[in-house]
Amino acid sequence: MRQKITALVAVCMTLTVRIWAQAPSTTPYKANDRFEQLGPQLPTPNTFRTATGAPGRDFFQNRADYDIKVELDDANQKIIGSERITYYNNSPDALKYLWLQLDQNLFEKNSTANLTTRSAVSTSGSNLTRLHNLNNAEPGAQVDPQKEYGHKITAVRDATGKPLKYTINGTMMRIDLSAPLKPGQNFVFGVDWNYNITAYYGRSGYEFFENDGNRNYFIAHWFPRLCAYDDVNGWQNKQFLGQGEFTLIFGNYKVAITVPNDHIVGSTGECLNYKQVLTPTQFQRLQKASTSKMPLKIVTQDEAIAAEKGKPTGKKTWIYKADNVRDFAFASSRKFIWDAMQTDVYGNGKKIWSMSFYPKEGNPLWEQYSTRAVEHTLKSYGNRTIQYPYPVAISCHATRYGGMEYPMISFNGGRPEPDGTYSPGTKAGMIGVIIHEVGHNFFPMIVNSDERQWTWMDEGLNSFCQYLAEKEWDYNFLSGYGEPQRIVPYMKSDPATLSPIMTSSDNIIQFGPNAYDKPAVALNILRETVMGRELFDYAFKEYARRWAFKNPTPADFFRTMEDASGVDLDWFWKGWFYGVEPVDQDLVEVDWFTLNTQNPEIEKALARSEAEAKAKTMSKIRDAATKDQTVVAKDSTMRDFYNSYDPFAVTDADKKRYQDYLASLNEEERKTLDSKNNFYTLTLKNKGGLPMPVIIRMQFEDGTDSVARFPAEIWRFNDAQINKVIATTKKVTQWTLDPFQEIADIDTDNNSFPRQAQKPTRFQLYKQQAGGRGGAQGPNPMQQQRQETQPPATQGGAPRR
Ligand SMILES: [Zn+2]
Repeated sequence: MRQKITALVAVCMTLTVRIWAQAPSTTPYKANDRFEQLGPQLPTPNTFRTATGAPGRDFFQNRADYDIKVELDDANQKIIGSERITYYNNSPDALKYLWLQLDQNLFEKNSTANLTTRSAVSTSGSNLTRLHNLNNAEPGAQVDPQKEYGHKITAVRDATGKPLKYTINGTMMRIDLSAPLKPGQNFVFGVDWNYNITAYYGRSGYEFFENDGNRNYFIAHWFPRLCAYDDVNGWQNKQFLGQGEFTLIFGNYKVAITVPNDHIVGSTGECLNYKQVLTPTQFQRLQKASTSKMPLKIVTQDEAIAAEKGKPTGKKTWIYKADNVRDFAFASSRKFIWDAMQTDVYGNGKKIWSMSFYPKEGNPLWEQYSTRAVEHTLKSYGNRTIQYPYPVAISCHATRYGGMEYPMISFNGGRPEPDGTYSPGTKAGMIGVIIHEVGHNFFPMIVNSDERQWTWMDEGLNSFCQYLAEKEWDYNFLSGYGEPQRIVPYMKSDPATLSPIMTSSDNIIQFGPNAYDKPAVALNILRETVMGRELFDYAFKEYARRWAFKNPTPADFFRTMEDASGVDLDWFWKGWFYGVEPVDQDLVEVDWFTLNTQNPEIEKALARSEAEAKAKTMSKIRDAATKDQTVVAKDSTMRDFYNSYDPFAVTDADKKRYQDYLASLNEEERKTLDSKNNFYTLTLKNKGGLPMPVIIRMQFEDGTDSVARFPAEIWRFNDAQINKVIATTKKVTQWTLDPFQEIADIDTDNNSFPRQAQKPTRFQLYKQQAGGRGGAQGPNPMQQQRQETQPPATQGGAPRR
């Protein structure tokens, strides 16, 4: 314990003031640019994008309207489509050619994604399965080796039907125009295509159910669609490698989807012909749901189970219209249960449909939670960004894990066990993924960031909003994102495995922690610790408002957050978004000072007790028994004035000096003198590198405590070590850095002074069977409960559904 008491030898109060103004530094000044402005790391503001982070006066974006006819061939798992595109050139440039995206080409044998997937043949057990990836040269999707995958383009024609020259480069297709498309002009053309649908690979495809032989289809990245042309990238025609997502432009869609006539379709947009495609009963239920505050079934589980066993007798065409969307996706199956409600989410009189489509395998979770979670997401996100502008929001249940987002529709995992029980992790995962994927409507479907380049701009912002929405759903929600300590294992990992958040999507190492967790934590820290909720919420909303239906860049986000809050955050963007250093603050020591009161009654008494304490050495203690045997003790002629002088006695002269001193003080100085303050000099080290606010809790000897907060700028003159004086009226017995786990400090052992004995690591004497949260590990708590409360005969019986 290095806590020590030192009396300040202050002759006047100015010394105390000087301590505050000039914290003594024990390390030499270290120049650093952590608190300099980002400057050259951000693009120069211009007339497209201003220095405030808002769109500039020349901001433009091109548009594409689509009129599409598509057929889902269930027998052959194939998509056949034909589209008519009207492309609007709002840019100041003449365009000689157009670039379109052919995402299905990801699954071609020789796609860049397949050729650049790293792999190795291993002879050790668990890696043997990876050989499968070498054969199935595709990123994750199960494909049939007999089939060819990828977009097959069968025609590209202009409005008059004349063929247009086109060139396919991987997942990109260039269409050459006979004359450059001038600014302000539009170009109408058509594309015909088809492709074989892969098994669901996390974004799209079909899920096959062995028990009933049916497939649920989740169709996305299915039509050739325009690349973005903008002031930042020109054409954003970076290849689709599977990881970096989609950079898209807005447009109006009219889509006619032809499916087997026993299928139920969920889709981006408003259905224009429900009356034709639904049975009268289904249509009636939909009318009822349009005024219901709770989800109502449009297709019941019994009806879905009956449909599973049937066969189609023909086809049906579902017609949809979607305005101002950046993409279009749909789901189709005869297995779908469908529930819906149309509610006034924001209390503004405008009703929005919340809907869910799921097979019976999703119940009981899906019928209880999905549609309610959709509505909750619209409300939560809408309140902190912009109100949801579309007429419908859909959650479809696709496979066990994962989730994927499209405008107005998302495909989500989260599936109970076959017996209908589920672990708390499955439940939180299911509600969490629905909030996440429906939440993507705001980022990037509305705030239309460049996903191919920046994953964090949608995933990070969305995971952060998800965390807030989860807490609004249930205070005790098992959130996966947001809390600072969640990012500690990642921040502690080998720097060679870390990329800055500001890394382009396809190059990110440790993708999830980098692009989801870390930015979500960073934003939570900004909100709770650096900016405060009020300033943060205002600025975050302003960013969403400025960039709704436009395409922001990182600089637009960074600048807007500062512009709207008045908080300089360049140091924060540098540390959290451009750097990989962790946070590790070390409270090295605390020195304790008390003020010299100059009052002789107090100071001389103190000096006496100190002198007496110092005199108590071992020899003096032992010699005390013989102290009357000394020469001076025995012979009084050997004594003089000093043998009876008491240097600690208070004299009249002392008292006079004290009165003169008091008279020289002003009122404020006298107040400080009367408060008998304790002064503590803290020595702090920034061991991690990333400078952060210093938050410190003082526990006082009377059992109370108090927390002091100092902004990160405290490190601006020396980013390695600082001193800080804290004055208190009470004595501090314990100091603790970051007591509320706000800053993602990777080593909390050095956060206390005096150092706390660490909690023992608990170990078990007997190795017990793992009782997991469900799955193969053991029964989940619901199963356990059921086994305990039900007679054995009903155990492990047929599925409850
Ligand atoms: Zn996401």
